[in-house]
Amino acid sequence: MSRKLKIAVVPGEVCGGCDMALVDLHKNLIDVIGLADIVFWPIAMDFKEEDLDELESIDIALFQGSIRTEKHKEIIERVASKAKIKVAFGACACFGGVQSLADLYKLEEVLNEAYLKSPSTINEERILPGESKANPYKITAPKLVEINYKVDDFIDVDVYVPGCPPPKEIISEAVNKLIKYFEGRISLEKGTVIAGTRTLCDECPREKPEKIVIDRFKRIHEVRLDPSKCFLAQGAICLGPATRGGCGSPCIKANMPCRGCMGPAPNIYDVGAKLVSALPSLVEIENEPKLSDDELSKRVTIMDPAGLFYRFTLGLSRLVRMVRRE
Ligand code: SF4
Ligand code: SF4
Ligand code: SF4
Repeated sequence: MSRKLKIAVVPGEVCGGCDMALVDLHKNLIDVIGLADIVFWPIAMDFKEEDLDELESIDIALFQGSIRTEKHKEIIERVASKAKIKVAFGACACFGGVQSLADLYKLEEVLNEAYLKSPSTINEERILPGESKANPYKITAPKLVEINYKVDDFIDVDVYVPGCPPPKEIISEAVNKLIKYFEGRISLEKGTVIAGTRTLCDECPREKPEKIVIDRFKRIHEVRLDPSKCFLAQGAICLGPATRGGCGSPCIKANMPCRGCMGPAPNIYDVGAKLVSALPSLVEIENEPKLSDDELSKRVTIMDPAGLFYRFTLGLSRLVRMVRRE
């Protein structure tokens, strides 16, 4: 390449894990720095919002996190207008992430929980953001947007890099593809997802029976999980059947069921809707007519279904969004 690429890393509502994942590239990051200049990365380097004014164009913009404030929205739109390739990086940017679960509540309830009611909060004067009378630094509270948005709700995304955070191998693949694209060696289809092309189940090394039949769903503390057998076959819910593979299955290898951070598998849009319709049929109800309604419902009850099925992808659920907007 005759010139260095200009890369911007733009945070929305983030936890910092996606930045750590980039820094964790170690030698690969140094190789990238040899080919590219970081022109904006306020979480890792000393960049300020005003620095965006001096940027005429950006080759690659990595957007991290969801959009929760008017300022997030303003900055991603500003950067996107100057960027040639726009990348949604991480589960929050791609699907809304964990913070989309707050969309199940009214904004007032969310603020009360965060600033007044949570067990670790001490706020005797019951001050909410922006309400402090003593405000020597004249800090104004960020203006929240109505719900938690994913990045492609506001800008056209060229490449999605999922995961919470994206695994090292996926980031390296994304970097290699983007460099080859700018060298003119490959084309990039709009909406390319850098991840596996099958479900996680297709890549899972655990023993799977031909047909899964369980007596009831169990939470992971209720059962000693056999590390060689499929979680679902042991009654523990695993999101592998509806989740995109390519992460290297770190949770499965650590004997923890998948929680879906790579997002929906190809041809699936709503992970929760897919699993809610498929999983109850795994429960075999013997002597159904003899069971009371209570016993029957205990067998198929799933605790915290929203947190379980939509931990990372509630931002994709059209149903929830329709209800919240109303
Ligand atoms: S995707 Fe995960 S690691 Fe990245 S900002 Fe969101 S919560 Fe943090
Ligand atoms: S449901 Fe989970 S444990 Fe079972 S095969 Fe799929 S990914 Fe593996
Ligand atoms: S196993 Fe599931 S939750 Fe774990 S990293 Fe892979 S996709 Fe994410």
